[in-house]
Amino acid sequence: MSVPLLTIDRARKAFGGLVAVNDVSFEVGKGELLGLIGPNGSGKTTMLNLISGALSLTSGAILLSGKPIAGLAAHKIARIGVARTFQLVRVLPSMSALENVVAGAVFGHNRLWGDEALALARDLLERVGLKGREEVPVAAMTYIDQKRIELARALAGNPHVLLLDEWLAGLNPSELGVGIELIREISAQGRTIIMVEHVMDAIRSLCSRCVVMNSGIKIADGRSADVLADPEVVRAYLGD
Ligand code: ADP
Repeated sequence: MSVPLLTIDRARKAFGGLVAVNDVSFEVGKGELLGLIGPNGSGKTTMLNLISGALSLTSGAILLSGKPIAGLAAHKIARIGVARTFQLVRVLPSMSALENVVAGAVFGHNRLWGDEALALARDLLERVGLKGREEVPVAAMTYIDQKRIELARALAGNPHVLLLDEWLAGLNPSELGVGIELIREISAQGRTIIMVEHVMDAIRSLCSRCVVMNSGIKIADGRSADVLADPEVVRAYLGD
């Protein structure tokens, strides 16, 4: 079998006495779109923080193409090819949409510069639906448009793995449909994605496989249709 693109091997993160991620293991294949779900407080964001290097592991390992990445600084992991969006959008508000996305190209995996970075940023802004608004300061844009910019910025680095932390949260029903199709399109281009998401319709529609966490423990991993019908998973959500 070929080496998985991403391997999470008994990852553990304790905050004092609280074990937010409790010896969780799973693998993600190249080109896969994996859903990471679970009730509030189950450890999903902590897991993304461990993968992206925002937090260090208490024990365990995280490997990208078989090479350990845990322990490296977050900017190094970004360079190696892990990009993310945040639950609470993080953009540079005084800069334009274009400048934000150019920053993603410059500091990401591909380290583009100058005209190449600009051309890619313009192309990505068009793909996320912001053509014609490239020069608008981000502070003057809506929350949803800021999310689009964050996604374009993450893609600008041409990451091996894209981590989406509730990227669809806060979208109204018509925006949600557009957002789901955008993620589908990015996935169809071969990008490997892990998406943390509460919108179950999106998980059903986009992710053939999902991993479920509850109280820091992985309680299910498999075909989304099976996992979402698993009584233990249903119980975990009802107890939320
Ligand atoms: P989820 O994303 O599934 O809602 P989180 O990963 O945000 O869950 O949180 C998992 C648990 O870890 C929660 O109990 C949360 O309060 C705790 N936690 C998360 N980050 C920290 C932190 N920096 N310090 C202390 N506790 C934290």
